[in-house]
Amino acid sequence: MTRKPLIAGNWKMHGSLADSRKLVEALRGGVTAGARATMLLCPPYVYLSAVHEWVRGSPIVLGAQDIADKPATGAYTGEVSGQMLSDVGCSYVIVGHSERRALYGETDAVVATKLKAAQAAGLTPIACVGETLEQREAGETRSVISGQVAAIVDAAGVQALAKAVIAYEPVWAIGTGRTATPEQAQEVHAFIRGLVAARDATIAAGLSILYGGSVKGANARSLFAMADVDGGLVGGASLVAAEFLDIFRAAA
Ligand code: PEP
Repeated sequence: MTRKPLIAGNWKMHGSLADSRKLVEALRGGVTAGARATMLLCPPYVYLSAVHEWVRGSPIVLGAQDIADKPATGAYTGEVSGQMLSDVGCSYVIVGHSERRALYGETDAVVATKLKAAQAAGLTPIACVGETLEQREAGETRSVISGQVAAIVDAAGVQALAKAVIAYEPVWAIGTGRTATPEQAQEVHAFIRGLVAARDATIAAGLSILYGGSVKGANARSLFAMADVDGGLVGGASLVAAEFLDIFRAAA
Protein backbone atom coordinates (compact mmCIF):
# COMPACT_ATOMS: atom_id res chain seq x y z
CA MET A 1 0.00 0.00 0.00
CA THR A 2 1.35 3.43 -0.88
CA ARG A 3 1.13 6.23 1.59
CA LYS A 4 1.19 9.67 -0.03
CA PRO A 5 3.55 11.91 1.95
CA LEU A 6 1.90 14.74 3.89
CA ILE A 7 3.78 17.90 4.81
CA ALA A 8 1.82 19.88 7.37
CA GLY A 9 2.64 23.38 8.56
CA ASN A 10 1.53 24.26 12.08
CA TRP A 11 1.68 28.05 12.30
CA LYS A 12 0.75 28.01 16.01
CA MET A 13 -0.12 31.55 17.26
CA HIS A 14 2.25 33.32 14.87
CA GLY A 15 1.99 35.96 12.18
CA SER A 16 -0.50 38.59 11.11
CA LEU A 17 -3.10 38.46 8.36
CA ALA A 18 -0.67 40.29 6.05
CA ASP A 19 2.20 37.90 6.92
CA SER A 20 -0.09 34.94 6.29
CA ARG A 21 -1.07 36.24 2.87
CA LYS A 22 2.57 36.73 1.82
CA LEU A 23 3.44 33.26 3.04
CA VAL A 24 0.57 31.58 1.20
CA GLU A 25 1.33 33.46 -2.01
CA ALA A 26 4.94 32.30 -1.89
CA LEU A 27 3.96 28.71 -1.13
CA ARG A 28 1.36 28.52 -3.90
CA GLY A 29 4.02 29.10 -6.51
CA GLY A 30 5.99 26.08 -5.31
CA VAL A 31 3.23 23.49 -5.19
CA THR A 32 2.13 22.04 -8.48
CA ALA A 33 -0.84 19.79 -9.14
CA GLY A 34 0.29 16.18 -9.38
CA ALA A 35 3.07 16.61 -6.80
CA ARG A 36 3.92 13.36 -5.04
CA ALA A 37 3.19 14.94 -1.63
CA THR A 38 0.33 16.92 -0.15
CA MET A 39 0.95 20.32 1.48
CA LEU A 40 -1.32 21.11 4.42
CA LEU A 41 -1.48 24.52 6.13
CA CYS A 42 -2.80 24.89 9.68
CA PRO A 43 -3.13 28.62 10.40
CA PRO A 44 -4.77 30.07 13.51
CA TYR A 45 -8.58 29.71 13.56
CA VAL A 46 -9.24 33.35 12.70
CA TYR A 47 -7.26 33.13 9.45
CA LEU A 48 -8.78 29.87 8.19
CA SER A 49 -11.38 31.48 5.92
CA ALA A 50 -8.86 33.88 4.42
CA VAL A 51 -6.29 31.14 3.81
CA HIS A 52 -9.01 28.99 2.30
CA GLU A 53 -9.65 31.73 -0.28
CA TRP A 54 -5.94 32.20 -0.98
CA VAL A 55 -5.30 28.50 -1.63
CA ARG A 56 -8.40 28.10 -3.81
CA GLY A 57 -7.47 26.52 -7.14
CA SER A 58 -4.17 25.15 -5.77
CA PRO A 59 -3.51 21.63 -4.43
CA ILE A 60 -2.74 23.05 -0.94
CA VAL A 61 -5.18 21.80 1.70
CA LEU A 62 -6.30 23.40 4.93
CA GLY A 63 -6.42 22.22 8.52
CA ALA A 64 -6.96 23.60 12.02
CA GLN A 65 -4.66 23.37 15.03
CA ASP A 66 -7.34 22.22 17.44
CA ILE A 67 -11.04 21.38 17.74
CA ALA A 68 -13.64 21.37 20.50
CA ASP A 69 -14.09 18.06 22.29
CA LYS A 70 -17.84 18.45 21.79
CA PRO A 71 -19.39 16.79 18.76
CA ALA A 72 -22.21 19.32 18.32
CA THR A 73 -22.81 23.04 18.64
CA GLY A 74 -23.79 24.39 22.03
CA ALA A 75 -22.99 26.71 24.90
CA TYR A 76 -19.20 26.26 24.87
CA THR A 77 -17.76 29.77 24.91
CA GLY A 78 -14.56 30.10 22.93
CA GLU A 79 -14.73 26.67 21.34
CA VAL A 80 -14.87 25.77 17.64
CA SER A 81 -16.67 22.64 16.44
CA GLY A 82 -15.66 20.21 13.73
CA GLN A 83 -18.64 21.26 11.63
CA MET A 84 -17.46 24.88 11.78
CA LEU A 85 -13.97 23.87 10.69
CA SER A 86 -15.43 21.93 7.83
CA ASP A 87 -17.58 24.96 6.86
CA VAL A 88 -14.47 27.14 6.45
CA GLY A 89 -12.70 24.64 4.25
CA CYS A 90 -10.70 22.44 6.63
CA SER A 91 -10.12 18.82 5.79
CA TYR A 92 -7.64 18.09 8.60
CA VAL A 93 -7.27 19.02 12.26
CA ILE A 94 -4.39 18.53 14.69
CA VAL A 95 -5.38 16.91 18.00
CA GLY A 96 -3.27 16.37 21.09
CA HIS A 97 -0.32 18.58 20.16
CA SER A 98 2.14 18.47 23.05
CA GLU A 99 1.55 22.18 23.68
CA ARG A 100 -2.16 21.48 24.16
CA ARG A 101 -1.31 18.58 26.45
CA ALA A 102 1.29 20.47 28.51
CA LEU A 103 -0.14 24.01 28.58
CA TYR A 104 -3.88 23.32 28.53
CA GLY A 105 -4.03 20.06 30.43
CA GLU A 106 -5.37 17.89 27.60
CA THR A 107 -5.39 14.28 28.69
CA ASP A 108 -5.26 11.19 26.49
CA ALA A 109 -9.03 10.89 27.03
CA VAL A 110 -9.64 14.44 25.75
CA VAL A 111 -7.40 13.78 22.75
CA ALA A 112 -9.40 10.65 21.89
CA THR A 113 -12.67 12.58 22.24
CA LYS A 114 -11.35 15.29 19.91
CA LEU A 115 -10.27 12.68 17.38
CA LYS A 116 -13.80 11.26 17.38
CA ALA A 117 -15.33 14.76 17.12
CA ALA A 118 -13.12 15.47 14.10
CA GLN A 119 -14.12 12.28 12.34
CA ALA A 120 -17.80 12.86 13.10
CA ALA A 121 -17.47 16.12 11.14
CA GLY A 122 -15.70 14.41 8.24
CA LEU A 123 -12.26 15.81 9.12
CA THR A 124 -9.05 13.79 9.19
CA PRO A 125 -7.47 14.12 12.63
CA ILE A 126 -3.69 14.27 13.01
CA ALA A 127 -3.16 12.82 16.48
CA CYS A 128 0.14 13.82 18.09
CA VAL A 129 2.07 11.54 20.40
CA GLY A 130 5.53 11.88 21.86
CA GLU A 131 7.69 11.56 24.94
CA THR A 132 9.43 14.26 26.98
CA LEU A 133 13.20 14.31 27.37
CA GLU A 134 12.84 13.06 30.94
CA GLN A 135 10.77 10.12 29.75
CA ARG A 136 13.24 9.28 26.97
CA GLU A 137 16.18 9.42 29.35
CA ALA A 138 14.31 7.18 31.79
CA GLY A 139 13.84 4.61 29.01
CA GLU A 140 10.09 5.20 28.95
CA THR A 141 9.65 6.20 25.29
CA ARG A 142 7.88 3.00 24.23
CA SER A 143 5.59 2.85 27.23
CA VAL A 144 4.58 6.51 26.85
CA ILE A 145 3.89 6.14 23.13
CA SER A 146 2.02 2.90 23.55
CA GLY A 147 -0.15 4.46 26.27
CA GLN A 148 -0.98 7.43 24.03
CA VAL A 149 -1.80 5.23 21.03
CA ALA A 150 -3.81 2.75 23.12
CA ALA A 151 -5.90 5.58 24.59
CA ILE A 152 -7.01 6.48 21.06
CA VAL A 153 -7.55 2.90 19.87
CA ASP A 154 -9.41 1.89 23.03
CA ALA A 155 -11.73 4.90 22.87
CA ALA A 156 -12.30 5.17 19.13
CA GLY A 157 -11.55 1.65 17.88
CA VAL A 158 -8.70 0.68 15.57
CA GLN A 159 -11.03 1.39 12.63
CA ALA A 160 -10.72 5.09 13.48
CA LEU A 161 -7.08 4.93 12.37
CA ALA A 162 -8.18 4.06 8.83
CA LYS A 163 -9.10 7.75 8.49
CA ALA A 164 -6.53 9.39 10.75
CA VAL A 165 -2.89 10.38 10.74
CA ILE A 166 -0.49 9.99 13.65
CA ALA A 167 2.32 12.48 14.24
CA TYR A 168 5.27 11.35 16.31
CA GLU A 169 6.59 14.50 17.92
CA PRO A 170 9.20 13.97 20.61
CA VAL A 171 8.57 16.89 22.96
CA TRP A 172 12.32 17.48 23.35
CA ALA A 173 12.61 18.13 19.61
CA ILE A 174 9.75 20.63 19.23
CA GLY A 175 11.00 24.17 18.69
CA THR A 176 14.38 23.29 20.19
CA GLY A 177 16.48 22.84 17.06
CA ARG A 178 17.28 19.37 18.37
CA THR A 179 15.89 16.94 15.80
CA ALA A 180 15.53 13.21 16.37
CA THR A 181 18.00 11.36 14.18
CA PRO A 182 16.40 9.53 11.25
CA GLU A 183 17.16 6.27 13.08
CA GLN A 184 15.50 7.47 16.31
CA ALA A 185 12.44 8.60 14.34
CA GLN A 186 12.28 5.37 12.34
CA GLU A 187 12.51 3.26 15.49
CA VAL A 188 9.50 4.95 17.08
CA HIS A 189 7.51 5.11 13.83
CA ALA A 190 8.01 1.38 13.28
CA PHE A 191 7.02 0.79 16.90
CA ILE A 192 3.80 2.78 16.40
CA ARG A 193 3.00 0.88 13.20
CA GLY A 194 3.61 -2.36 15.05
CA LEU A 195 1.22 -1.35 17.83
CA VAL A 196 -1.51 -0.70 15.28
CA ALA A 197 -0.63 -3.85 13.29
CA ALA A 198 -1.23 -5.92 16.40
CA ARG A 199 -4.87 -4.80 16.15
CA ASP A 200 -5.23 -4.58 12.35
CA ALA A 201 -2.41 -5.15 9.87
CA THR A 202 -4.18 -3.57 6.90
CA ILE A 203 -4.95 -0.36 8.77
CA ALA A 204 -1.37 -0.25 10.04
CA ALA A 205 0.03 -0.59 6.53
CA GLY A 206 -2.07 2.33 5.27
CA LEU A 207 -1.54 4.59 8.29
CA SER A 208 0.45 7.78 7.66
CA ILE A 209 2.85 8.53 10.50
CA LEU A 210 4.40 12.00 10.36
CA TYR A 211 7.53 13.08 12.19
CA GLY A 212 7.57 16.46 13.94
CA GLY A 213 10.32 18.23 15.85
CA SER A 214 12.68 20.82 14.35
CA VAL A 215 12.27 19.57 10.77
CA LYS A 216 14.20 21.85 8.39
CA GLY A 217 15.15 21.75 4.73
CA ALA A 218 18.57 20.45 5.76
CA ASN A 219 17.32 17.37 7.67
CA ALA A 220 14.03 16.62 5.88
CA ARG A 221 15.45 14.35 3.19
CA SER A 222 17.15 11.96 5.59
CA LEU A 223 14.07 11.80 7.83
CA PHE A 224 11.67 11.20 4.95
CA ALA A 225 13.95 8.50 3.54
CA MET A 226 13.03 6.29 6.50
CA ALA A 227 10.59 3.50 5.67
CA ASP A 228 7.96 4.44 8.24
CA VAL A 229 8.25 8.24 8.09
CA ASP A 230 5.41 9.42 5.86
CA GLY A 231 5.98 13.15 6.00
CA GLY A 232 6.33 15.89 8.57
CA LEU A 233 4.45 18.12 10.97
CA VAL A 234 6.44 21.33 10.84
CA GLY A 235 6.25 24.28 13.22
CA GLY A 236 8.84 27.06 12.97
CA ALA A 237 10.09 26.21 9.50
CA SER A 238 6.56 26.32 8.07
CA LEU A 239 6.54 30.10 8.61
CA VAL A 240 9.41 30.64 6.18
CA ALA A 241 8.28 29.97 2.62
CA ALA A 242 11.65 28.96 1.18
CA GLU A 243 12.36 26.61 4.09
CA PHE A 244 8.92 25.01 4.03
CA LEU A 245 9.11 24.55 0.27
CA ASP A 246 12.48 22.87 0.70
CA ILE A 247 10.89 20.45 3.17
CA PHE A 248 7.96 19.89 0.83
CA ARG A 249 10.31 19.15 -2.08
CA ALA A 250 12.19 16.64 0.06
CA ALA A 251 8.96 14.63 0.22
CA ALA A 252 7.56 15.46 -3.21
C1 PEP B 1 5.27 21.53 15.96
O1 PEP B 1 4.84 22.62 16.22
O2 PEP B 1 4.51 20.57 15.92
C2 PEP B 1 6.70 21.40 15.68
C3 PEP B 1 7.17 20.23 15.35
O3 PEP B 1 7.45 22.53 15.78
P1 PEP B 1 8.97 22.73 15.23
O4 PEP B 1 8.98 22.25 13.81
O5 PEP B 1 9.19 24.21 15.33
O6 PEP B 1 9.86 21.94 16.11
